[in-house]
Amino acid sequence: MSIPIHFKPGVVAYNMHDRTGEILAAAQKAYRMAGLTYVTVTSMREGLHSVPMSAHYDGRAIDFRTRFDDSTVQFSNEIKKEIQAILIHELGDKFYVRIEALHIHVHLKDE
Ligand SMILES: [Zn+2]
Repeated sequence: MSIPIHFKPGVVAYNMHDRTGEILAAAQKAYRMAGLTYVTVTSMREGLHSVPMSAHYDGRAIDFRTRFDDSTVQFSNEIKKEIQAILIHELGDKFYVRIEALHIHVHLKDE
């Protein structure tokens, strides 16, 4: 059983790298295992990203919200770290997972 994926309005999802489907599936599993009932994507290709040559621009990165959609309070660090650990376990070393201030960032590494 998997949990729904919500998309923040304005998220641009076209022309993503084939393997980013694995990121979505892993996020559904990680959020579910952390006791959450949905996962929200906050960024795919669009937006301004601080890192030069961000993996977002070439469709290899996805950001996930680390709070409930209707709340301003971030999840606890424990929950964020649990989600991160499951993502790393599920995705393996071809992917990079980082807890940011307001989201969890995941990208497929450059090959
Ligand atoms: Zn990101």
